[in-house]
Amino acid sequence: MNFAVTSGPPTPEELQRELQAFMKQHFAGGAPPFFNRAAPATPPSQPATTDEKEFQFSHKPKDVKAHLDRFVIKQEEAKKVLSVALCDHYHHVRLASMGQDQPNYAKQNIILVGPTGVGKTYLVRSMAELIGVPFVKADATKFSETGYVGGDVEDLVRDLVRQAGGDVRRAQYGIIYLDEIDKISTASHITGRDVSGRGVQTNLLKLMEETEVPARAPNDIAGQIQAMMEMSQQGRKQPSTINTRHILFIVSGAFDGLEKLVSKRLRESMIGFAARGPAQDRDEEVIRQAQTRDFIDYGFEPEFIGRLPVRVFCHSLNTDDLYQILAHSEGSIVRQYEQSFGAYGLKAAFKEDGMRRLAEMAADEQTGARGLMTVCERVFREFKFELPSTLVSQFEVSRELVEQPAAALKKLLEQNLGEGEPIARQGIAAFTEQFHKEHNLKVAF
Ligand code: ADP
Repeated sequence: MNFAVTSGPPTPEELQRELQAFMKQHFAGGAPPFFNRAAPATPPSQPATTDEKEFQFSHKPKDVKAHLDRFVIKQEEAKKVLSVALCDHYHHVRLASMGQDQPNYAKQNIILVGPTGVGKTYLVRSMAELIGVPFVKADATKFSETGYVGGDVEDLVRDLVRQAGGDVRRAQYGIIYLDEIDKISTASHITGRDVSGRGVQTNLLKLMEETEVPARAPNDIAGQIQAMMEMSQQGRKQPSTINTRHILFIVSGAFDGLEKLVSKRLRESMIGFAARGPAQDRDEEVIRQAQTRDFIDYGFEPEFIGRLPVRVFCHSLNTDDLYQILAHSEGSIVRQYEQSFGAYGLKAAFKEDGMRRLAEMAADEQTGARGLMTVCERVFREFKFELPSTLVSQFEVSRELVEQPAAALKKLLEQNLGEGEPIARQGIAAFTEQFHKEHNLKVAF
């Protein structure tokens, strides 16, 4: 390939032209084998190109909630509100794809408030999986105001294209989930941060309203080449920009301190609010009364908060909830542990008292269901290391084991040494007999 000698490196457009000419000359328009990567499969429920087909969506809020119930324990109100908002949004998208767009439709972008590890991400991810739309999650903190230091908010939209296997049209119906949104509030007295998030809010606002984002970042040469390959392979050009009109935005955060602003407002307006119970429950009850004004006082631009009309609150999880997660959620970490021990032919039988103790210990961590992962990792660390190389074939996860894992492991290994011996002897006997038959030699161990 020869680039004309110019004063600087070629622009992406020049590069693209040169590459096109090169491809034509050497591969007669086809792509070289290097580029012949199979496109990721599109879920059957999704039209491959929604430009050509209408967007399919037939769920009802109750179906969506029933799906969430299989995985997410508690958060009943959140599940309902999310199911309704999701159905509203995607029925609107479906109508729009049939050319029956309501001109003044206000998009049902969502703000999710709740402490860490209580299932916020899990809810959104499970919904996206159910309806088969691409899903992207990021932390709002990674976006600097200028886009130079951190990421660029537009990258979120391009990430959706990647999640959609390069299909720009599908990406336009995806879900973008931004966590830690409270960290880009502008009131530094609340977050204790000195950084102004106003710029990030403004950039996000543009996306939430409607804008066209270039499908390839201008400096993404590999992406430009890929686009050209797709074009020559499929004979169909992907749109060069992504329209954000139908992308559903969900933002979330713990919003520490918001309860103070809410109770101040309630006191001032003399509405009075008598919340009862432990301090944490009281704070959660107060936060549920949050209104637009409280979010503005917290440090959000009115336009920004105005684009997030659906407010959802998630509860913190108590010991019993954590037990329910272990025992009944389809995504329970217990299944994960059963599977990883199962890979070595080991059966881990989780007993009720064992799971209750795990839940109690996880509650002390105060990180919601994430505490379950921390505690399980600590309890089973040595078991995972030792057991696969022993003759142990099963063990019970009892309260005793969870409280004293080292002692329980020692006991298990001792028991199995005794039990293992006859098995080992049988194996040796079988081997020597076979060896004798085949080689007429007697082996003695
Ligand atoms: P966050 O609220 O911080 O977004 P996540 O949704 O990421 O928390 O939760 C972390 C993990 O904990 C999830 O992947 C899931 O396995 C488990 N988990 C959290 N909350 C629940 C819940 N309510 N029901 C079932 N599992 C949960």
